[in-house]
Amino acid sequence: MCSTEAERTVERMTSSHSPTHVVIAGGGVAAVECALALRDLAGDRVRLTLIAPETDFELRSLRTAEPFARDHVRRHPLKDLAARVGAELVVDAVAEVEPEWKAVRTAGGDTVHYDALVLATGARHRDAFRHAMTFRGDRSALPFNDLLADIDEGYSHAVSFVVPPGTTWPLPLYELALMTAAEAWGMGIDDLKIEIVSPEASPLELFGPPATAAVVALLDRAGIAFRGGAYVREASDGTFVLVPSGESLDSRRVVALPTIEGIELAGVPADASGFVPVDEHGRVRGLADVYAAGDGTSFGVKQGGLACQQADAVAELLAAAAGAPVQPRPFKPVLHGRLLTGANAQYLERALHGGAGDAPSEPRLWSAALKVDGRYLSPWLLALEGDVAPAAADGEGLDVEVALPHGVGAATYALR
Ligand SMILES: Cc1cc2nc3c(=O)[nH]c(=O)nc-3n(C[C@H](O)[C@H](O)[C@H](O)COP(=O)(O)OP(=O)(O)OC[C@H]3O[C@@H](n4cnc5c(N)ncnc54)[C@H](O)[C@@H]3O)c2cc1C
Repeated sequence: MCSTEAERTVERMTSSHSPTHVVIAGGGVAAVECALALRDLAGDRVRLTLIAPETDFELRSLRTAEPFARDHVRRHPLKDLAARVGAELVVDAVAEVEPEWKAVRTAGGDTVHYDALVLATGARHRDAFRHAMTFRGDRSALPFNDLLADIDEGYSHAVSFVVPPGTTWPLPLYELALMTAAEAWGMGIDDLKIEIVSPEASPLELFGPPATAAVVALLDRAGIAFRGGAYVREASDGTFVLVPSGESLDSRRVVALPTIEGIELAGVPADASGFVPVDEHGRVRGLADVYAAGDGTSFGVKQGGLACQQADAVAELLAAAAGAPVQPRPFKPVLHGRLLTGANAQYLERALHGGAGDAPSEPRLWSAALKVDGRYLSPWLLALEGDVAPAAADGEGLDVEVALPHGVGAATYALR
């Protein structure tokens, strides 16, 4: 949206009644960031309602650490968040948006009216393969423990980690592969074959050449093979074939990420993959006073830090519209990632900053709360968890940061 359009949004909403009633649908990363940002920026100029189907917030990105006992997903009651930001919490799901009435209908049959609606309802995770173990970030950590037990007992000698075609967030798969290698080594197993198969040309290519080089070095050290520019197709007999080479995967154990699709909500426009089309201020195209942030939007990269940045852009626009002295800035995506490796963090720091000649970096502080980087979310989690620990002690990781092109669309970064 150009600045004149942003100004019009601000004018229209400032002239409506006060405080502005903002309804946020969702209880995940973008919803929490948006609620915290709005309360901070707009103060009592806004009244907040949070509609979420679950009672707790979970930082699912830590699920990859669970099978390796390196960390665990914490739960934080949404009612505590609601109390902190002075929001009403409705434990329910939005079933339909009725823009003509400026209302949402919930699955439980209630109607909630809004002045502004923020959709932060995330995305749907679909299994790409029938016979692979799909790691969704939910309870799928449990079967992963079985895989580790099979490796330990000598039943599995080769594992393929597969990034599926379509929209997905590949980083967790690298974490799982690297931590599996470290775990096997720790069990005294040195003949486990691990490979990553991905449509990416190079490992984590989205993060840019320096990070890719560091990840390549890391995979080499861990003895993990990378097959880039490749797809995996599942044959009808449940075997996996590489495309375009036609080779069969020799691993009998295949771990895959899900494909990410939008959740279509009645009354809300969606693109062919179900994602909600938004402009750079998070305004839903074609609907007045409806905004969206996070994995459910048409922005092509699905990542928690980016979801927070989108939520911040929405919050700034709404705060300004409610009369707060805020200059709304558009969403300018900067990808900031932390890769759990099970290896030495200092090596990675040096690799990222220019090679072996550099002085070892200072031991950096690590906190699970920073796995997803949000301007408001991270301090909120840090205050709740207060568990900052030296990186070398438990949460080894690679930090990378890269600015993404403006206005990136779903098709641009979908891995095909
Ligand atoms: C295993 C794994 C590892 C990851 N690692 C990282 C990482 O290291 N760093 C990073 O930045 N990102 C990471 N991500 C991605 C990150 O988790 C997502 O990008 C982020 O959670 C998206 O935020 P969101 O708010 O859009 O969606 P979510 O966090 O999924 O939240 C969606 C919310 O909407 C609710 N909802 C759904 N439907 C409705 C409805 N109809 N009405 C109301 N509420 C609804 C859901 O219940 C949920 O509360 C990882 C993801 C996974 C799965």
